[in-house]
Amino acid sequence: MAKLVKTEPVLEIDNIYKDYDGIPVLKAVNLTLHKQEAVVILGPSGCGKSTLLRCINGLERIQQGEIRLDGVPISGDKTDFRAVRQKIGMVFQSYELFPHLTALENITLGPLRAQKRGKKEVEDKAIALLERVGLLEKKNYYPRQLSGGQKQRVAIVRALAMQPEIMLFDEVTAALDPEMVREVLDVMFNLAKSGMTMLIVTHEMSFARAAADRIVFIDAGEIVEENSPHAFFTQPTTERARKFLNIFEFKE
Ligand code: ADP
Ligand code: MG
Repeated sequence: MAKLVKTEPVLEIDNIYKDYDGIPVLKAVNLTLHKQEAVVILGPSGCGKSTLLRCINGLERIQQGEIRLDGVPISGDKTDFRAVRQKIGMVFQSYELFPHLTALENITLGPLRAQKRGKKEVEDKAIALLERVGLLEKKNYYPRQLSGGQKQRVAIVRALAMQPEIMLFDEVTAALDPEMVREVLDVMFNLAKSGMTMLIVTHEMSFARAAADRIVFIDAGEIVEENSPHAFFTQPTTERARKFLNIFEFKE
């Protein structure tokens, strides 16, 4: 269900380079994310996927190149990274909800404090989002009263409540029990199909194939292959991608 019309670029990653203590982790990475596009990043462990997402939302600094959001650089020394993080939401493997706050309070905290929005508007939107992910009846529950899958859905709603332009997902189902993976993938799938602009790192191959408009395959800090899900999974063009897919027994 790829979106046929290429919309305008939202996020431009322009030839970025990053190393840790002289060891290159991202090398000449170029990637453009268009409005309403869901791009899935695949690649072996340690290839730089998390680092790329962390550079995009300003948790790590790049050494060369530039990242732009709506044409405005967001990677330089003068960047207000807190402001960037309000526009680029990120969800991690571990949800890290505040244990002493209810689901609803966890979700409304950022919009109320960081964005200084009005209580009524913020709560109404939070409740609508909770309903969308099937958790309305849990709004007054504390994290310890929620399952892993429910907590991860609250974490996704918490990021969405900030009304970001882009959402980044870093292996958000990797730490969940198998029976809870589906409910979280469903939320991301619906989000992608509703037109949210998303960059998703995952090892869930069926999900990647169904949800992505485009697959980006990274190996050793480089984008090795970039293609439609169908083309990537049926006719990977590089040996590295073929090897990677064989591990997941995605043979057809
Ligand atoms: P992935 O998410 O694809 O598994 P990462 O982006 O986490 O990969 O890591 C890419 C490489 O960078 C790995 O070799 C990892 O050991 C290294 N790395 C990640 N974070 C740091 C750090 N804070 N300091 C030093 N090396 C790091
Ligand atoms: Mg990672």
